[in-house]
Amino acid sequence: MEFRDLKAQYLALKDEIDEAVGRALSGGSFILGAQVEALERELASYVGAAHCVTCANGTDALSLALMVWGIGEGDAVFVPDFTFFASAEVIARAGATPVFVDIDSKTFNMCPEALAHVVSVVEKEGALTPKAVIAVDLFGQPAEYDKLRPVCEAHGLKLLEDGAQGFGGAAGEKRACSLGDMGTTSFFPAKPLGCYGDGGAVFTNSDEEAALLFSLRSHGKGNDRYDNVRVGVNSRLDTLQAAILLVKLRAFQKNELALVNEKAQRYAELLTDAVKKPYIKGGYRSSFAQYSILLKDEAQRDGLKGHLKKQGIPAQVYYPRPMHRQKAFAYLKPQAWENKNTAEVCGRILALPMGPYLSDEDIETICGHINGFCR
Ligand SMILES: *Cc1c(COP(=O)(O)O)cnc(C)c1O
Repeated sequence: MEFRDLKAQYLALKDEIDEAVGRALSGGSFILGAQVEALERELASYVGAAHCVTCANGTDALSLALMVWGIGEGDAVFVPDFTFFASAEVIARAGATPVFVDIDSKTFNMCPEALAHVVSVVEKEGALTPKAVIAVDLFGQPAEYDKLRPVCEAHGLKLLEDGAQGFGGAAGEKRACSLGDMGTTSFFPAKPLGCYGDGGAVFTNSDEEAALLFSLRSHGKGNDRYDNVRVGVNSRLDTLQAAILLVKLRAFQKNELALVNEKAQRYAELLTDAVKKPYIKGGYRSSFAQYSILLKDEAQRDGLKGHLKKQGIPAQVYYPRPMHRQKAFAYLKPQAWENKNTAEVCGRILALPMGPYLSDEDIETICGHINGFCR
C-alpha cells in the first residue's frame, strides 16, 4: 500500500500527461514557456486571485513574498509552532526572527487568541518589530483568516497564507491561497496539486506586488533579461512541470478534490471513536493533504504506527517536534510562553494513507487494523 499513490494517478491520466509532455519537449522552450503563462492564468482564476506568479518550489514562494514586503533583520514574523520546517525557515533565511505561536487543538491551525497574546508580548519586549504573520493551511484545511485578520489589522501586520497543503480548500466562498494579503502554494509531488518535480506559486491581488514577484523570480529583471534593477533570485517553473500541472489541475477540478473528500468521509464512517478524527470547521472545505488522527498518547501512537507497518500499511508522523524545539532554531531567545497544544499534538498525531486514488478496500483494511488495535 502507498502512503499517497502517485503511480495510480499517473496511470489514470497517462494519455493526457504523455501527450502534454511530448508537446512541451517538441516545443523546445523549456523554461517559462507558453504553458507556464497558461497555467498562471488558470491557477489565478481557480484560486480567485488577480495574479499568479509561479516559481521553483513552495519554499521559494514564501521567500519571494517576504522579499516583496521587504522583511529582514530586526523584524518579527509570527508562524505556527506546528508546521513543516519551510514555513519558519524562510523567515530566518530573510534575516528576520520567527516567533512561534500555538495551534488550535481541533483544527491544528494557528490559534488566533494565541497570536494576539504573543504579538503583544513581542511588542512589550520591544526588541523586534512585528511585521507579518505566516498562517499555514495545515493538512488541507484553511486557517481561520477571518479571526487572524483583525489581529493583523490591529497591529499593522501583513498576513501571508502558506497554502502549500491547502490548495483546493475553501473558507465559505473563498478558496485557499486567496485568503491572506498574499498566498503561496507548492507543487511538490505529494501535495494536493503536485507536479513531477519541484514547483510553487505566489498569489496576489496587487498589480505592484505581482510585477515585483515577476522581477524577483528572474534575477530582479527590469525591462528585459539583461536589465537588472534589483537583486532577485533564480526561481522559475519549467515548461514540462507547467504542462503536467495543466493536465493535473483539470483532473483536480473534475473529480480528484471530490474523491479525496469521499475518502475522508469513508474513513470517518469506519473509524470508531477510540481515535480522534479530523475536525473540519463548518463552512470550510479541506483538500486533505493529510488525513491525520489523534491517538490517546504517544505510546499508543507509536505502537499503532509500528503495528500498521507490520501489516504493510505506511503511516507518518507529521510533525513529531514543535518548530521552537528544532536544533536549527536553538540560537533564538527562549520564548516566554508555552505552546501546550502543539506539544500535545506532536505526541499524539498520526497521518494515514490518503489521496484520490486510495481504494475503499484499503480504507476498510486500515480502519479494521486501527479499530482492533485501539479497542
Ligand atoms: C511542502 C511545504 C512547504 C514547502 O514546499 P516545497 O515545494 O517543498 O518547497 C511549505 N510549507 C508547508 C506547510 C509545506 O507543507
